Amino acid sequence: MIFNFIYFNIINQNINVIVIPLLSIQSAAHKAGFDACGTGKIQPLSDDENHLKQWLEEGMHGDMAYMGRNVNKRIDPGMLVPGAQSIITVLLNYFPGNPPAATHRPRIARYALGVDYHSIVKGMLYKMLDLLRKEHGTINGRAFTDSAPVLERAWARRTGLGWIGKNGMLIHPQMGSFTFIGELIIDAKVEATKVNIPDRCGTCTRCMDACPTGAIVAPHVVDARKCISYLTIEKKTPLSEKEKGMLNGWCFGCDICQEVCPWNGKARETDMPDIRPMGHIANLDVKNYAHLTEREFETIFGKTPVKRAGFAKFVENCKESL
Ligand code: SF4
Ligand code: SF4
Repeated sequence: MIFNFIYFNIINQNINVIVIPLLSIQSAAHKAGFDACGTGKIQPLSDDENHLKQWLEEGMHGDMAYMGRNVNKRIDPGMLVPGAQSIITVLLNYFPGNPPAATHRPRIARYALGVDYHSIVKGMLYKMLDLLRKEHGTINGRAFTDSAPVLERAWARRTGLGWIGKNGMLIHPQMGSFTFIGELIIDAKVEATKVNIPDRCGTCTRCMDACPTGAIVAPHVVDARKCISYLTIEKKTPLSEKEKGMLNGWCFGCDICQEVCPWNGKARETDMPDIRPMGHIANLDVKNYAHLTEREFETIFGKTPVKRAGFAKFVENCKESL
């Protein structure tokens, strides 16, 4: 027998005890379209608790008040699903390649050039859950992707999908960091992945050196208040003159600390049409960005993550970035 996995299904006093084999979960993840998957037991993330609390106490979350809410659920996502036993984490590569340098100012982060990934990744997660139910019977669970108080990168690391780089991103040793992360939290037991990928940043500091605003204030610590991604998307109050001067040509998000990461050097382009950049955005004359009407904004960006910034903020960002 090649795979040493556990599987038993005992009906005992009406308790259905299932331990889902890793191979079965990996197969479901692959069929649903994911590029990698890890599994683990739900437990409080006590290692990450201090890090999160200190980051919040120092106000590094800026205007993102929601980050300070539900801290207990962030630390213990078992609270999100009744009877939660396990977490299944998945990665979906979205790397669309590198944009032609001269024609892409103002710039949009790569993940936002295609259809909003939230519904796509969630749909894939529920497809995966259905596949597991077909094979293993009743499983209750919920799918998450950037949509609930789950410390996704910490769970991806814990379940063997990579390590957290000095830029705060989850880095997979083959795919790099241009990946979407999703999770299923379920009430069944799973065979946990035993892989533990150590931190492979080593002495590299390229991301810290390249960040134009000094937002990576220490390895693994990003001060959102200085981060272009926060300034162009999340900050709801008007940018100060100083903040306007920090955008460095970006109008939605920022990829600089990922572009310089050597682990992204071998990233392969996604072949999933749904998450590839939409042609009408890639071909948009950038000079028009700052003169969009609200209707044009809705037509061009309505199905993309860019919508999150809102019309007025996006256009202001573009004006500063031209
Ligand atoms: S996203 Fe941009 S601004 Fe934010 S930490 Fe990375 S390089 Fe710095
Ligand atoms: S650029 Fe270097 S230090 Fe930063 S995340 Fe990548 S490997 Fe780690």
